[in-house]
Amino acid sequence: MLRLARRLLLALAAGTALSAVPAEAQPSFPNRTLTVIVPFAAGGPTDTVTRLVAEAMGRDLGQTMVVENVGGAGGTLGAQRVANARPDGHTLLLHHIGMATTPTLYRRLAYDPVGGFEPVGLVTEVPMTLVARNNFPATTLAEAVAIIRRDQDKLNYANAGIGAASHLCGLLLMSAVNAPMTTVPFRGTGPAMQELLAGRIDLMCDQTTNTTEQILGHQLKVFAVTTQSRIGALPNVPTSAEGGLPAFEVSVWHGLYAPKATPPEIVNRLSQSLQVALRDPRLVARFRELGTEPVAQDRATPAAHRAFWTADIAKWRPIIQAAGQFAD
Ligand code: ASP
Repeated sequence: MLRLARRLLLALAAGTALSAVPAEAQPSFPNRTLTVIVPFAAGGPTDTVTRLVAEAMGRDLGQTMVVENVGGAGGTLGAQRVANARPDGHTLLLHHIGMATTPTLYRRLAYDPVGGFEPVGLVTEVPMTLVARNNFPATTLAEAVAIIRRDQDKLNYANAGIGAASHLCGLLLMSAVNAPMTTVPFRGTGPAMQELLAGRIDLMCDQTTNTTEQILGHQLKVFAVTTQSRIGALPNVPTSAEGGLPAFEVSVWHGLYAPKATPPEIVNRLSQSLQVALRDPRLVARFRELGTEPVAQDRATPAAHRAFWTADIAKWRPIIQAAGQFAD
């Protein structure tokens, strides 16, 4: 996996369809409760973002939007549920950058990881943070790196499965410091965070939407934010470049998906509602507190989402293939 990580590092340093439901069969949309699947456990960053979006979209759509957590296998179990759902717009998926790496990392899946979905719109791009248990014996990134290099055989690193953001970020870190650590996979970084807070996990790289409050509450050590500039929610946390690892830079985009063959008018209605949600002052304020912000309105559209997703799949494919590393 370190070979893959090196490729990732280089790249980042440089920068079952069901049949269509006829429109006439949908007199009004939505006509019942909607379900949005989070492909990771409850309490984690994707879950947090999804609950905020679902609440605001539900208000706009006039229907409750229930969030269901289907974690496991790096997010592929939840994605599979939505790819195989009835394409009537009532079952959706909110996933992250894993939608761009899964098509190459996983060669055997029980669903089509690209053709199985209709993109609805991008949601947010979230910075990552490198965090450690509170009694980790370092306070700066340089000190942490020295300990990781020295104690690599003894340290463990949590992630949310192969292709998860925490997995990719961990690979970047291990490659940047040239030290593999034992990785412990969870169904999401929500449960991983509980283990980190309890001191049973040493290190994790996760979205600020799961780490900001714990950092501000001094429940964790934090060594870096993986963005070019410091972020407003965590002004005292240095960037990885400031800490001496300029190539350890990554942010995690999230998007909303419907199953393949969902009628375009329904996808468009969902996209309009997503745009309303992303303007919602409560959502915007909460995103800001958690170190992120909604994408610009013109990116919360099916076309912009498809273009970005397609480009990101193309960006990751050669990196993963050249490294010859696959989830199976
Ligand atoms: N942050 C997780 C990841 O590593 C996913 C989650 O639990 O939201 O991809």
